[in-house]
Amino acid sequence: MSVPSTLFTGGLVFDGEHSPRPGLGVLVADGRIAALAPAATFDGFAGPRVDTGGCTLMPGLIDAHVHLAMEATGDVVTTLRQRPAADLTLRMLENAQASLCGGITAARDLGGVEWAEVAVRNAIRAGRHLGPDLRCAGKVLTITGGHGAWIGQECDGPEAYTRGVRLNVKNGADCIKLIATGGVLTGGVDPLAPHPSTEEMAAAVRMARDFGIRVAAHAQGVRGIRRALDAGVDSIEHGFELPDDVIATMIERGTCLVGTLASMMSLVAMLDGLPAYVREKVERFSALHFDSFRRYVKAGGRVALGTDAGTPGNHHGANAVELRHMVDLGMTPLDALRAGTCIAADLLDLPDHGRIAPGAAADLLLVPGNPVEDIGAAADCRRHRGLWKGGVDVHAALRHPSAVRRQFAAAPTLAAAAGF
Ligand SMILES: [Zn+2]
Repeated sequence: MSVPSTLFTGGLVFDGEHSPRPGLGVLVADGRIAALAPAATFDGFAGPRVDTGGCTLMPGLIDAHVHLAMEATGDVVTTLRQRPAADLTLRMLENAQASLCGGITAARDLGGVEWAEVAVRNAIRAGRHLGPDLRCAGKVLTITGGHGAWIGQECDGPEAYTRGVRLNVKNGADCIKLIATGGVLTGGVDPLAPHPSTEEMAAAVRMARDFGIRVAAHAQGVRGIRRALDAGVDSIEHGFELPDDVIATMIERGTCLVGTLASMMSLVAMLDGLPAYVREKVERFSALHFDSFRRYVKAGGRVALGTDAGTPGNHHGANAVELRHMVDLGMTPLDALRAGTCIAADLLDLPDHGRIAPGAAADLLLVPGNPVEDIGAAADCRRHRGLWKGGVDVHAALRHPSAVRRQFAAAPTLAAAAGF
């Protein structure tokens, strides 16, 4: 069933790249942006209109780093281990929908469990459930006993990394996540310690390139960051320790930093609710992390919005708060908004997302006032005024699941197929 064309006019338009502009109309047809033009162009339009007066219409936000399998509890590892597989899959779908309701219309899952998140992605893609467009890394590739081994594929040697990429692609992954260093949430590993060799990661990157997919590296300490950059990864996730020469290398190569500030901010905010080994690492690394981000931004580094949603206290649906954190650590509001729209879209290989332009997906967020003057208008999802996924009003649809089915059901019903 095609959805009737809808015209959005009256307020500002942030197209995902340039400063918000007045006087434009956005025409949506069949789930896509049909036109972006001066409002007067649409004078004769007789279909439904959405008055955006007093607000800014912008692309839905994109989160380049989430874990749908994690539930933001204090001890995520134990919570995850206790979940039966079927229950976990349903919760991943719920977490995806919670993200959507928070204004996140596309997200990249950087560490799932037994590829259940791929099934969630496919169900959303097929229109069986409403949710954000997902990119999935499948199982993280880590050394034996490395960070994330509790969900990942343990690999030792370049051949094992090559096989790890193939195994993920076989199971539907559309990007790869390498664990270059220790991490915070895994006991017994040091975030500053480099784990795989450059050769191991380079083997994975080569294989990913053959499949035409991108590679993200969880990389906290600088030795692992250097190795990941030498191996040719597309993004550095977290980046706790970024000396100036590494920042310069990232800028020269166009590597993205995905800061996951919401993760560290949430950990700092709930120190007493964390396992002791996590608390100790948060106390050691939060200041270093924030300082690195600040210097990276000051130097002009490329940032994509990513929260690590699902880690302790870092709830699915609150992802937009990363915008606030990025601004607090030195980004201009416009740059933070671009990090959460066009730049994240490019990193996720979703060029028709994160932009309001003819042909782009009609994933739209309506926020009060002008978010360049008040980042909270976009960063605080409680202030959002409207949200559309593929042209469908998300808030109305999720209140009325039958409407979702009507709008998204691409496949014919049994009755239709039988010619009744
Ligand atoms: Zn993560």
